[in-house]
Amino acid sequence: MFDSSERPTILVVDDAKENVSVLAELLRSDYKIRAATSGEKALDICFSDNPPDLILLDIIMPGIDGYEVCMRLKEASQTKSIPVIFVTGKINEEEEIRGFNMGAVDYIKKPYNSVIVKARVSMHLELKRYRDRLENFSYLDGLTGISNRRKFDEYLDSTWNLAVRVSMPVSMVMMDIDFFKQYNDHYGHQGGDECLVKIAQVLSKTLVRKTDFLARYGGEEFVCILPNTDADNAFIIAEKMRQNVMSLKIPHAFSDVEEIVTISAGVATKFPAKNVSSAGLVEEADKALYKSKESGRNKTSY
Ligand code: GH3
Ligand code: MG
Ligand code: MG
Repeated sequence: MFDSSERPTILVVDDAKENVSVLAELLRSDYKIRAATSGEKALDICFSDNPPDLILLDIIMPGIDGYEVCMRLKEASQTKSIPVIFVTGKINEEEEIRGFNMGAVDYIKKPYNSVIVKARVSMHLELKRYRDRLENFSYLDGLTGISNRRKFDEYLDSTWNLAVRVSMPVSMVMMDIDFFKQYNDHYGHQGGDECLVKIAQVLSKTLVRKTDFLARYGGEEFVCILPNTDADNAFIIAEKMRQNVMSLKIPHAFSDVEEIVTISAGVATKFPAKNVSSAGLVEEADKALYKSKESGRNKTSY
């Protein structure tokens, strides 16, 4: 995914250095260029923290060839959306079909016309930009603008897998607005919506670490994933969120617990292990939230 304000990065892969130079020279004025002279090196760059936005890939190379590079990129969720364009000398239809079946978006045949190469690269980058935008959009909650349940599922999955590898705790805070049905009944559905937006904003401001994650879990439920955070610290964060919602002082004359809008929170912490699913963490956070509700609301429980 790339920021539209920045120049996109193109990775040029060819075992012949002079071929890399020609393409790099052609595209240098519009893009950041990175080069790799082997399939191995290309994969390293693609799986790094700074992957390219598009790849121009030679097919025949010693070691890992272009087909294999393409296949490996398309297999991994981290790299599968990077567009791959094969750049090759002689090619027959069968090979061309093979490349498309592997997920390449285009072919450029040598000798090429530089205007056409530029036009194709630009078109595929534009398509990628639209795809990225669409994907980002599909991860957002329409009302509050924070992440939605879909994004939550993905973030939990990737955090859980990472935690198994590096052995770190993962905490979760499940939150639910108290007596929100009464709020809606008396202040109207639109008033309820406005309240949800304010709460989402204050919750998201409470989180400071870049890896901390907030989503709207359902109607008036919010959830946080706190990677590498132990139970005590997760409890402190949950309490801060509960307090910050109170400090909004949104009047709620029909709440049985306070005269303002409050939330209840439940905290759970687990050390992820191989072959143990993340469902248990959600379940425990849910149980803890239920405890807060049962014991009077406007509370945080483990
Ligand atoms: P509790 O303290 O036990 O959580 O009680 P509650 O009234 O908050 O819980 P309940 O589950 O009975 O009601 C939740 C209400 O949240 C029902 C619905 O009217 C409201 N709600 C859910 N989603 C939305 C939404 O998107 N907008 C608005 N305005 N209201 C919503
Ligand atoms: Mg509620
Ligand atoms: Mg609820």
